[in-house]
Amino acid sequence: MVDTSFANESIRCTVTDCKFHNCDKNFCSLGTITVGTHESDPKECQCVDCESFKAKNEVLA
Ligand code: SF4
Repeated sequence: MVDTSFANESIRCTVTDCKFHNCDKNFCSLGTITVGTHESDPKECQCVDCESFKAKNEVLA
C-alpha cells in the first residue's frame, strides 16, 4: 500500500485512478513526476502524459 498522505501542492492532479493520487486534496503525493509525450510532434495538451502514473491495482517492482 502506497502512502498518499503527502499532497505536493506544486502538482495538481485529478487522476483518481493513479496509485499516487492524494484523493483528499486532489494533488499528487510524489515529490517529483516525469511528464512526457507519446507523440513524435506534440501540438496539444492531449499529446502529453504523466509518465509517473501507476494504476491503483498495479504492483510496484
Ligand atoms: S503520478 Fe501523475 S497521474 Fe499519478 S497522481 Fe501524480 S501527477 Fe497524477
